[in-house]
Amino acid sequence: MSDKFDVIVIGGGPGGYVAAIRCAQLGLNTACIEKRINKQDEPALGGTCLNVGCIPSKALLDSSWKYHETESALAEHGVKIKGADLDLDTMLQRKDTIVKNLTGGIAQLFKANKVTWLQGSGQLKAGKQVEFQPLDGGDAQTLQAESVILAAGSVPVDIPVAPVDQNLIVDSTGALEFPKVPKRLGVIGAGVIGLELGSVWNRLGSEVVVLEAVDTFLPMLDKQIAKETQKQMQKQGLDIRLGARVTGSETTKTKVKVTYSDGEGEHTESFDKLIVAVGRRPYTEGLLSADAGVSLDERNFIYVDSQCRTDVPGVYAIGDLVRGPALAHKAIEEGVMVAEVIMEEATQVNYDVIPGVIYTHPEVAWVGKSEEEVKESGEAYKTGVVPFAANGRAMAAGETGGMVKFVADEKTDRILGMHIVGPQASELIQQGAIAMEFGATAEDLQLMVFGHPSLSETVHEAALAVDYKAIHVAQRRRKK
Ligand code: FAD
Ligand code: NAD
Repeated sequence: MSDKFDVIVIGGGPGGYVAAIRCAQLGLNTACIEKRINKQDEPALGGTCLNVGCIPSKALLDSSWKYHETESALAEHGVKIKGADLDLDTMLQRKDTIVKNLTGGIAQLFKANKVTWLQGSGQLKAGKQVEFQPLDGGDAQTLQAESVILAAGSVPVDIPVAPVDQNLIVDSTGALEFPKVPKRLGVIGAGVIGLELGSVWNRLGSEVVVLEAVDTFLPMLDKQIAKETQKQMQKQGLDIRLGARVTGSETTKTKVKVTYSDGEGEHTESFDKLIVAVGRRPYTEGLLSADAGVSLDERNFIYVDSQCRTDVPGVYAIGDLVRGPALAHKAIEEGVMVAEVIMEEATQVNYDVIPGVIYTHPEVAWVGKSEEEVKESGEAYKTGVVPFAANGRAMAAGETGGMVKFVADEKTDRILGMHIVGPQASELIQQGAIAMEFGATAEDLQLMVFGHPSLSETVHEAALAVDYKAIHVAQRRRKK
């Protein structure tokens, strides 16, 4: 193997593998170093997202929803099923098959694009050299590149009050693998992972208690959407306790005892399993030699400019290693951008239009600014909110919970944000993202024709509602 490459990418997650493929498409001789060994003890591409993140969690969310629907939601449609059985082994194996097929697909894409996959760990040294330590225990090699892309991702944050043992106290990876449904499940953190994985096990029969340190539920969301989401989650049986700070945990052979304090004092709860989901941090261990020259910011992210250049010319960093939302699609677009920056093409990720989604049921999705953010900025604004209860297709599907909300600039009418809690929010939100990318106004959406009957009509109505023109909800014009 040659020890010289145009580009070396360290990390083969959504950021790294996409960067490597785009570099190869642009004619660059590219290697991608990835050290992951999967559940089957084989080297695997795809990073956190494909192996233990986005994909397996969504497989379980979809399977558990089907089980829940069969058990309790189908009767309303006149479909009566007696004694639906849960075969958890099959459910978990199905998830594993999806992961295996997808990660294997990335290896095929590497072959097709002539990206060299180096199985092992990489460390950046001075002068754009990379030390490669193969997984097979062979000798370390020093490689040289014109450009290096750091894409080592993130790992779960640990808290000393609940140390993960991947048996009784697990992180998100362990929570994808429970061999049986825990009777009582504790979750620390009412963030994205806590709500998604808490929902999975709740649907499968666990009694779920979520302990959240902060007093506000999902503080990054538009307040109105967060309030409705909290209502929907609690209706489903998730027992969400806000302002609950975990102070300790103790494990016996089969139980975890958790102590926490809130405004009312100290409490103790006993669980069969405990998921710790209190955030993720950039994974820089072993990635940078002392003389690498790359700086970190105050939160230990690799410091980069708006085009992901580090302090070292020719060295870039992307994805969960750097500032911005820790999301796969953000990592992917940064991977593409950096490949194009290396080729000196004009390119830029639009960080103002990155959708976020929580894949609960109903789903929650948002893009752009919340009403509170716009208010705080002092800009004059208007909003349009329409519930799915006013939508025929949502009624037909029995999915009337939630709403679509637009926030638009009062003077220019430009859409500043779109917020949804409701059916298919993950798909509907893209309409807002596309509109915002094109600088659309609320009127632009008002003048479009939306297919009937469709959930998208609630998007249309919410845009109309911005100017008190919605047809299927009674709107009273506010006095100025
Ligand atoms: P990663 O995917 O973490 O990949 C980095 C890779 O680099 C890893 O495979 C690691 O082994 C490798 N590596 C690290 N150091 C080295 C080294 N020194 N040498 C060689 N290899 C190295 N995001 C979404 O957008 N949508 C979702 O639905 C979603 N669901 C999630 C669910 C869960 C349970 C979790 C945990 C995360 C989820 N995320 C989701 C977040 C998403 O997984 C991350 O934002 C995304 O994976 C980041 O991509 P990345 O390429 O930066 O890093
Ligand atoms: P998060 O930041 O979404 O939520 C963590 C929660 O834990 C916060 O509400 C925080 O206040 C709380 N917390 C922190 N310390 C605590 C403590 N000691 N006791 C109780 N609560 C505490 O983090 P996460 O849920 O671990 O997810 C990590 C990241 O992974 C997310 O930020 C997201 O970027 C990504 N992710 C995305 C998706 C998706 O896009 N659907 C799904 C899963 C994960």
